[in-house]
Amino acid sequence: MVKKEITSAAKLKKELEEAKAELASRNKKLKLSVKTEPKKKAEPKKKAEPKKKEAKKKVEAKKKAEAKKKEAKKKAEAKKKEARKKVEAKKKAVAKKKEAKRKAEAKKKEAKKKAEEAKKKEEEAKQKEEEAKKKEEEAKRTYEEELEEQLTEDEIKNFAIDKTDMDKLVNRVTEMIASYATNGILQNILWRKLKLSSRDGSRLALKLEKLGNITREKILENGRWTYLLLIKKIPISTISIENAPCLVCPVEGKCSTDGEISPKTCVYIEDWVLTELKTKKRHETN
Ligand code: SF4
Repeated sequence: MVKKEITSAAKLKKELEEAKAELASRNKKLKLSVKTEPKKKAEPKKKAEPKKKEAKKKVEAKKKAEAKKKEAKKKAEAKKKEARKKVEAKKKAVAKKKEAKRKAEAKKKEAKKKAEEAKKKEEEAKQKEEEAKKKEEEAKRTYEEELEEQLTEDEIKNFAIDKTDMDKLVNRVTEMIASYATNGILQNILWRKLKLSSRDGSRLALKLEKLGNITREKILENGRWTYLLLIKKIPISTISIENAPCLVCPVEGKCSTDGEISPKTCVYIEDWVLTELKTKKRHETN
């Protein structure tokens, strides 16, 4: 401040007023400077505000992202848990199915076993029944067995049917039985072919056996005892001998097995054998 020399009151007053005005002006400026100073200080705050806001925003975004991530993780875990649960459930279902199948199979096996046992029992019962029946049948005496007891050997050998050439019948029946060779023929079938009654047939079979032409084998056929007739001795047919070409052969004296004239090459013998075979077959079919 400049010191001025006071010359008068008016001048002093004026100078006072000027000093006052200057002071006021300075105060004003000072106030202004005081007012603007905080403003200058507040500016960085104003500038920092968006940054802070931005940072806050970023933090919030980060928080949100983290929350989202957490939520996603939670969801993924829940999903995983659910999937694990489903797998477990599936495993349980498979195990249950397997168990059910095993039980069903065991049940089936048991049922099969029971059925087999029942079948076995049934078969055993059937077998026992058949054995009992067989024993019962075996115990039964045949008509022929009764006849054998009732008749003498001569009565059997001399058995004859009225108005029948018995020698011829014996030969015919023996030849027929012989045609069945080792297989034999059931007596009831043979009697049917010959149109003989069971009574006569049974007696004739006994006669043939006593004569030594056949043998009889007792067999069980369709639950009934009968006889299988088998050839023992093939008879020589009288008729066949009568027709033999050798009996009337003019060169019979020159005929020998090793000679020029021989039964091996003889056409008469061949024709005779063929005729005999045809006759035999005709008898069998009749
Ligand atoms: S085999 Fe012939 S040739 Fe010899 S005797 Fe008999 S029919 Fe005669």
